[in-house]
Amino acid sequence: MGRLDNKIAIITGGASGMGASMAELFTKEGAIVIAADINEENLAKISELENVEGMKLDVSSDENWATFTKAVIEKYGRIDILINNAGISSQKSPQDITDQDWAIMHKINSFGPFLGIKHVSKYMKEAGKGSIVNTSSYTAIIGSGLNSYTASKGSLRAIARAAAAELGKSNIRVNTVFPGVIETPMTANIGQFKEAMDMLVRATPMGRLGQPEEVANAILFLASDEASYITGGELVIDGGYSAQ
Ligand code: NAD
Repeated sequence: MGRLDNKIAIITGGASGMGASMAELFTKEGAIVIAADINEENLAKISELENVEGMKLDVSSDENWATFTKAVIEKYGRIDILINNAGISSQKSPQDITDQDWAIMHKINSFGPFLGIKHVSKYMKEAGKGSIVNTSSYTAIIGSGLNSYTASKGSLRAIARAAAAELGKSNIRVNTVFPGVIETPMTANIGQFKEAMDMLVRATPMGRLGQPEEVANAILFLASDEASYITGGELVIDGGYSAQ
């Protein structure tokens, strides 16, 4: 018996990092995973896993979401789980951020998950159930990074809470995780800045960075029926970084 037996799960950003780790874990637990991503090369790789179908999706496009969800429903009949995980980051300082930088960041990191909730909840409402998990960031909780990334992840936090309030009566749960620094392609360049890396590790009570599987395990729980009375939940996964 798997913890996600017979579930149809969409994972955005499912072709890399934490999303790819979730795709692997979810299928081991019995789910059929649709890895939705903009990166076609990585989609081809993740589709080699059993019970993972890679589908191209730009999460920032309303039109893309409409076509994509229709195709998933036509093929699989329902959507039980949506993981709003796709995202981009930027290290630009406040002085360098342009209005275009700001717009792109929000379009992918905040409007993208909003669109996911908009399109998928329509089908979940018809089915009378569903589970949505969003990947925000610890930067949305602590005062870290005066930039468009932090703002977009804070926006996602607010959207998720509002969605939980709105969709609870339809038996659709909406929860959010707040990872600290996790070793994925997104953070690969931190290693080049040894000083920054040492500082991060020193500031983390557990004395190390996180691994994608450690986020995937937490999201698995929230996505599954084991979390049946948890909605509007917020789970920090940061080795204690934000606790001090
Ligand atoms: P990653 O770069 O390995 O994966 C992100 C994926 O999102 C990529 O496959 C990319 O192609 C996809 N993506 C980007 N724009 C897209 C779009 N418009 N449409 C569809 N897919 C798109 O990074 P990751 O570290 O696994 O990040 C996953 C999520 O976790 C992101 O939302 C990120 O902001 C968040 N996060 C990461 C960290 C960290 O330290 N790695 C910490 C906190 C939060």
